[in-house]
Amino acid sequence: MPANWFFDLIEANMPARGVFADIPGRAAVSYADVRALSARFAHALAGLGVRPGDRVAAQVEKSIGALMLYLACLRCGAAFVPLNTAYTAAEIDYFIADAEPALFICDPGRVDAYRSLPACAATRRETLDADGAGSLAAQAADMPAAFDNAPRGRDDLAAILYTSGTTGRSKGAMLSHGNLSANALTLRDGWRFTRDDVLIHALPIYHAHGLFVATHVVLLAGASMIFQRQFRPADVLAATRDATALMGVPTFYTRLLQEPGLDCASVRNMRLFISGSAPLLAETHHAWKARTGHAILERYGMTETGMNTSNPYDGDRVAGTVGFPLPDVDLRVTEPESGKILGVDAVGMVEVRGPNVFSGYWRRPEKTAEEFRADGFFMTGDIGRIDARGYVHLVGRAKDLIITGGLNVYPKEIETEIDLLPGVAESAVIGLPHQDFGEAVTAVVVRCADADLSEGDVLSALATRLAKFKTPKKVVFLPELPRNAMGKVQKNLLRERLAALYR
Ligand code: ATP
Ligand code: MG
Repeated sequence: MPANWFFDLIEANMPARGVFADIPGRAAVSYADVRALSARFAHALAGLGVRPGDRVAAQVEKSIGALMLYLACLRCGAAFVPLNTAYTAAEIDYFIADAEPALFICDPGRVDAYRSLPACAATRRETLDADGAGSLAAQAADMPAAFDNAPRGRDDLAAILYTSGTTGRSKGAMLSHGNLSANALTLRDGWRFTRDDVLIHALPIYHAHGLFVATHVVLLAGASMIFQRQFRPADVLAATRDATALMGVPTFYTRLLQEPGLDCASVRNMRLFISGSAPLLAETHHAWKARTGHAILERYGMTETGMNTSNPYDGDRVAGTVGFPLPDVDLRVTEPESGKILGVDAVGMVEVRGPNVFSGYWRRPEKTAEEFRADGFFMTGDIGRIDARGYVHLVGRAKDLIITGGLNVYPKEIETEIDLLPGVAESAVIGLPHQDFGEAVTAVVVRCADADLSEGDVLSALATRLAKFKTPKKVVFLPELPRNAMGKVQKNLLRERLAALYR
């Protein structure tokens, strides 16, 4: 049989027997089921005309069926294009027009709304619901449990994943079989996943974190997962009794810390807590350590590259850092304009190169060219530094950098100071248009319940700690910060909402 680069690797690591996923209130899914179900879905896709090199887009609820659809795409040689379940009809039509899939799979409840959209109407549609039923599943049901996988090489496309749209319009990142397999192997080994592991999977699967990082590590270790449709702190806490590992975004950890039942005894079966996709506050790291005895392992990645850095499995997991570059990833910090490589502790653009790095943005060759250096390094758009011990620190995004009166201000430095003040739950510092300064440093602060902190309190506390040009010109109090499903603070929304503050 001709080789299928990534699925062959998955298949080679699947145990003959054993549980792939435990789903609360339902029958467990075995590895034998994974082989059979992914084959049946692959037959269904092929029967619907999907050919190697085609795209298959899906906006579906989190289910095992959805994961099988992804594996079926790998087996058919198609590129899987998952779409956020929160996207509206108009957004979906943009993505369908952009990706031009041979097939679009959506929830049965959305079929009517999508029928009249121009790009959707021109695309073959099938359905898959939260329970794994629908027209696609119906076609898969009677298909054979074995499938001749399409030949796919290392550089062939496995998926197009749209970025989260935190800093602007989402871009489709083209990921190859080689990109996915290299990163998955590195993470499995680096985080010591084995067949004995049970991962709590409570992340969405339209994003790299839940679809790739969590799922691939389980598959390549032949481990199993407790598959939860959405994140509910009480359910995750209950699952820690039977699990060994959790992957989460920082909000998982802050919400779990509010569960009274969380303590060392409740998580005694657990060996590893991993966080990523957004910055984990050092304060959360310390609070978690105090409550559970575990140091959360923070790692850093992005849609375009998979994971780039990780705190060590053995050794110091340093709060507020994202750890070391992964073994096969070259990482450097440069002066953004000139590309000059910077030394220890100098702040600049984080750039990465390695087998995990994508080949480019789907149908955006100019954008791709802009983001790569001539020697193949990808400019992540994240600003950071490497300390003397080699730990990578992220200080923010290039797009969030504030230039006020010609001087650079990194929001994180100011946020860190504000977050230390009593009565502050969290903060976001942004630059807003200002006649004299170009941009005015502005603090958005969320108070702790019952705190009666004023703008004057914040400003006077900062006066002794920060240079005048870094001190916010105004402090705005909000009940909460706008966040997307991955827990990322959407500073672009704050900038839009407060655009007229200084006018
Ligand atoms: P867009 O590129 O569309 O603006 P996005 O960058 O948020 O959206 P993703 O690819 O989902 O889309 O997120 C990657 C980004 O998430 C990274 O570039 C980085 O800014 C942030 N990130 C990921 N992990 C961490 C972490 N541990 N600490 C801080 N930031 C992180
Ligand atoms: Mg990005």
